[in-house]
Amino acid sequence: MLQEFDAIIVGAGPAGCACAYSLAKTGLDVLVTERGGFAGAKNMWGGAFYGPVLNELFPEFWKEAPVERPVTRHRYSLLSGEGCLSVDYAHPKFNRPPYNGFTMFRAKFDNWFAEKVQQAGAIVATGLQADDLLWDKNKVAGVRAGGDDLPAKVVIACDGVNSMMAKKAGLRGELQPQDIKQGVKEVLRFSPGVVEERFNLQDGGGIDWEFIGDCTRGLPGGAFIYTNKESLSVGVVVSLKSLIDQGVRADDLLQDFKRHPAVAGLLEGGELAEYSAHLIPVSGIAMMPSRLYADGFLVAGDAAALVLGTGLALEGANFAVASGMAAAKTVIKAKQASDFSAVTLSSYQKLLEEGFVMKDLKTHRLAPHFLENERIYTAWPKFACNLAEKVFTSDGEPRRKTWELLKDEMKGEGAVSFAQMAKDLFEAGRAL
Ligand SMILES: Cc1cc2nc3c(=O)[nH]c(=O)nc-3n(C[C@H](O)[C@H](O)[C@H](O)COP(=O)(O)OP(=O)(O)OC[C@H]3O[C@@H](n4cnc5c(N)ncnc54)[C@H](O)[C@@H]3O)c2cc1C
Repeated sequence: MLQEFDAIIVGAGPAGCACAYSLAKTGLDVLVTERGGFAGAKNMWGGAFYGPVLNELFPEFWKEAPVERPVTRHRYSLLSGEGCLSVDYAHPKFNRPPYNGFTMFRAKFDNWFAEKVQQAGAIVATGLQADDLLWDKNKVAGVRAGGDDLPAKVVIACDGVNSMMAKKAGLRGELQPQDIKQGVKEVLRFSPGVVEERFNLQDGGGIDWEFIGDCTRGLPGGAFIYTNKESLSVGVVVSLKSLIDQGVRADDLLQDFKRHPAVAGLLEGGELAEYSAHLIPVSGIAMMPSRLYADGFLVAGDAAALVLGTGLALEGANFAVASGMAAAKTVIKAKQASDFSAVTLSSYQKLLEEGFVMKDLKTHRLAPHFLENERIYTAWPKFACNLAEKVFTSDGEPRRKTWELLKDEMKGEGAVSFAQMAKDLFEAGRAL
């Protein structure tokens, strides 16, 4: 047996680093085990980090964190066969402190965060996979990693979507395909100036551009483009169950998406710099473990399924950081009381309830079910694009009122009826 740590954290993603940093700053003995060769080596997101939570750990983090671009513009597009109908929102305030979000690369961000953790006094052991939990009767007492037994007063599972540690602690079962989306992403690199020019970006700003419709061949999910300094992150996120049921590969959808006329020209000449794939827990509260604590054990971030997916937002990294910080606060109190029992650690769940993590998940608890409605990915994009095409086509024929065109679009096979429209709008209002 080696020295007993106050806390062992499994996983050096955003949840693990936020937790370890907060604990180490208050002087606790902390070990982080990370299976990747370096923190971030195996991790990916779309992606942008949204919200102010990182500021609580590192005031004005953007001055030192490896950010690419502030997200100053949001665009949502519906894709039909060749058509594209978009809503675009930009505001100069998104390009001023405290900012709204930043595009970043996980390999750089996680590595930067893990360095901060080390500077705060914790040990970050990379290339070290935690294989099992150690038990003292019914209490978790450490982890087994690299053939060693590593004892700790508390273990915090921050090991991501398929958390082996949370399963071993008995807090959750196997992942179900209907609760998961698969993401695949390419990073395409361009010469300096190309990204600004193609996306009409000013003052270093960037875009978060989301697509639904034909980009996933109508399967629940969507596609995205994020602008980095001199590259684009381009990907699709699709229901794993639908991919399996339909025998479709997510990569085929990505390649389809890249060929769409609204997108192809923007990507032209991009050099493939990175390819990655990852799973996302998207069922929110419905898939969360009912308890996020046990004797000597806590679970945070994706391991606890703390991801907000509403179709308008896909946020997990900020939820991971917030839950890692909440876990640390709980452990600090437990250390002061010399009591790491489940009763003491249960205050973690209360902290999450008080903050945005559980409030947002509760507000949007109906979103995962709403997003299973296949009309969102088939009939609706087709309806909107067809209508736009008719409104904007000038073919020498007498023009018709938009209302009449709209009624026409509601006829025929696969069209959206008034009843479906009313139902979907009502459900969207409740869910989003
Ligand atoms: C395609 C895609 C797009 C996304 N886009 C966004 C976005 O734009 N914005 C956003 O906020 N979120 C986004 N997310 C979600 C976000 O990436 C996650 O919610 C977030 O990374 C969760 O952080 P985490 O620390 O809980 O887990 P992870 O980031 O998964 O980190 C877990 C860590 O644990 C390590 N690990 C796992 N098992 C072990 C073990 N047994 N021993 C040791 N180490 C282990 C892993 O190597 C990893 O470093 C996206 C996700 C995907 C897949």
